Amino acid sequence: MDRPSEGRGLIVVGGGPGGYVAAIRAAQLGAAVTLIERERLGGTCLNVGCIPTKALLRCAGLARSAREGAGRGIHMTLDRVAWEEVLDYQRWVVKRLVDGVSALLKKNQVEVIRGTASFIKPKTLKITGEKNEIREADRIILATGSAPVVPPVPGLKESRYVMDSTGALSVQRFPETMVVIGGGVIGVELACAFQALGCHVTIVEALPRLLPSMDGELAGMLAAGLERQGIKILLGCRVVRVADGPEGARVTVERAGTEEVLSADKVLCAVGRRPCSEGLDPEAGGLLRERGRILTDNRQQTNIPGVYAVGDCAGEIMLAHTASAQGEIAAENAMGGQAVYHPACVPSGVYAFPELAGTGLTEEQAKERNIPFRVGRFPLSANGRALIANGGEGMVKVLVGEELGELLGVHILAPNATELIAEGVSAISMEGLADDLIAAVHGHPTLSEAVREAVLAAEGRPIHTFLKPKGGKS
Ligand code: NAD
Repeated sequence: MDRPSEGRGLIVVGGGPGGYVAAIRAAQLGAAVTLIERERLGGTCLNVGCIPTKALLRCAGLARSAREGAGRGIHMTLDRVAWEEVLDYQRWVVKRLVDGVSALLKKNQVEVIRGTASFIKPKTLKITGEKNEIREADRIILATGSAPVVPPVPGLKESRYVMDSTGALSVQRFPETMVVIGGGVIGVELACAFQALGCHVTIVEALPRLLPSMDGELAGMLAAGLERQGIKILLGCRVVRVADGPEGARVTVERAGTEEVLSADKVLCAVGRRPCSEGLDPEAGGLLRERGRILTDNRQQTNIPGVYAVGDCAGEIMLAHTASAQGEIAAENAMGGQAVYHPACVPSGVYAFPELAGTGLTEEQAKERNIPFRVGRFPLSANGRALIANGGEGMVKVLVGEELGELLGVHILAPNATELIAEGVSAISMEGLADDLIAAVHGHPTLSEAVREAVLAAEGRPIHTFLKPKGGKS
């Protein structure tokens, strides 16, 4: 293999969706790339995050189908959940993807070094691991990811029943009861999966609502659906103490001055993630940080020219697709380009039953920014495909600019919402108008028709719901 030669050498630190994408893009552009990763290629997303969670949710979906079949004339019994086989299936999916990343890096002639990279001075890294050496490079892309936050709750750190999302995805014995601390994306997704597989789950969320980053109206509808599935949700509620008993944890929660004790076999702590640069010593590299986050401009360049940071270690929004997008941008800029990261219509998704996804502005954000808008809603109960898929649970909601009619936000609570949202992403990123989306004929019967219908509703002309004509008689 060609060794990095003077002038073409580029080092990427971290092999997750930010780092490996940056490495491939830089190699495509002619760089001699070295990628340094201390654990497994694929990072959090592939190994202990997005991918195993979705594999788990697929198993949970199958368990739900077994229960739901009877109402549709298909009578099945769910004999048992063989947890070890569920874990095997997850591991199989993860291995396929990690092997794929490894093969892609090889094909792109990226040198992969297993080890920890630490700055000893700007643009100079000490590598400790399978090789111990010092490397200098004019161009470095940092993609060191994030780690779970552990809140300072007495007894939490010491408890042998408390786990983070990584622990939940590999727990040896499937719990009968679980308390989930934090009603964000991780909390909700894992609560759904464990509940569907037979665990009794309680979510404890400090704020007065679940999923604070998503559109409030649809997040509220999802929360009501989770409760119908049997998940107990305690809002405006803080965990104040955790104590271990012989068979499980006792979690003391406090709400409006009153304390309650919840017992659980396992406690999942999912109160957020923090940027991670443990072992990297960014300060020795001369890099500026703020609350742990490596500071960059919108070209992903840090305060040191030629050094870039992407993904969770640099970001406020911690999403795999953001990391990959920034990775491509950093690689292009490191190779002389002028690419800029535009976060405006990055989609976010919650893989629950049903899924919730959004792009652009939420109603709350549009109000905060005093942007005049009109709203269109379309209930999925009026969409044939949704009625068949999940009894019509869900809604599409769009925000359209009052003056110009541009699409400002699209929010979807529906089966496969995380796929459907791509239409909103494309429309908003192409600065589409409501009329553009209306003019596009949507296939029938599809869930995507509901997106067009919501836009029709925003324009006061839905076909499959009835809106009182403006100024009409009541
Ligand atoms: P989060 O920030 O999404 O949610 C954490 C929640 O915990 C918040 O609602 C917060 O109010 C609550 N909380 C904080 N302290 C608490 C306490 N002491 N008691 C009770 N509640 C408390 O964090 P997360 O769910 O851990 O996810 C971490 C990151 O990973 C996020 O950036 C998320 O976007 C990302 N992620 C994304 C996906 C996806 O895109 N599908 C999936 C998983 C994780």
